[in-house]
Amino acid sequence: MLQATLPVRRAAFRRLLSGQAVSVIEVAAQIGSSPESVHRAVHDVASVGMAEVTDGTVVAMDGLTTQPTQHGLTLDGVQLWTWCAYDIVGIAAALGNDATGCTPCGACGRSIDVEIRNGDPKVTAVVGWLPSEACSNVRAEFCPSALFFCSMEHLEQWLATSDDRGGEALSLPELAERGRDEWRQVVA
Ligand SMILES: [Zn+2]
Repeated sequence: MLQATLPVRRAAFRRLLSGQAVSVIEVAAQIGSSPESVHRAVHDVASVGMAEVTDGTVVAMDGLTTQPTQHGLTLDGVQLWTWCAYDIVGIAAALGNDATGCTPCGACGRSIDVEIRNGDPKVTAVVGWLPSEACSNVRAEFCPSALFFCSMEHLEQWLATSDDRGGEALSLPELAERGRDEWRQVVA
């Protein structure tokens, strides 16, 4: 399903990068498809928590959104937001762009600034958590724990607050590497 909807995801994602939400009708015109089939595709993607559409307008696609969240991402001077901290480095890495991100530490809440040059995040003590659980809804099940932490110590504190968290602790460059693969087709 995600493969079949790729042209729609690409077109919507590209438009969101400009800082604008995009209507289903505009996406349809852009890819030469019917509004009905684009509407269906967007709803399929939304049903697994990878898109958000309100009143016929796509406001989020593949983790990128024009609606404020606690995860900020500035790309080419355009202020955008993401659904999880991992998206910040993943999307910037796939684009190979300069970017800045901002997200609260999952343990202490302190604001963490992320600097990215040509898709590569600057190496700092910050670590991220990449959840491994298979999930049926990315936004509801994966995103809430795909967080960044000031340090390994804060990540360990957070892990200790829950008995069942499957996933991996990764540095920002390691997360960027995963993201480069994950978003490659969407930014192509
Ligand atoms: Zn912290």
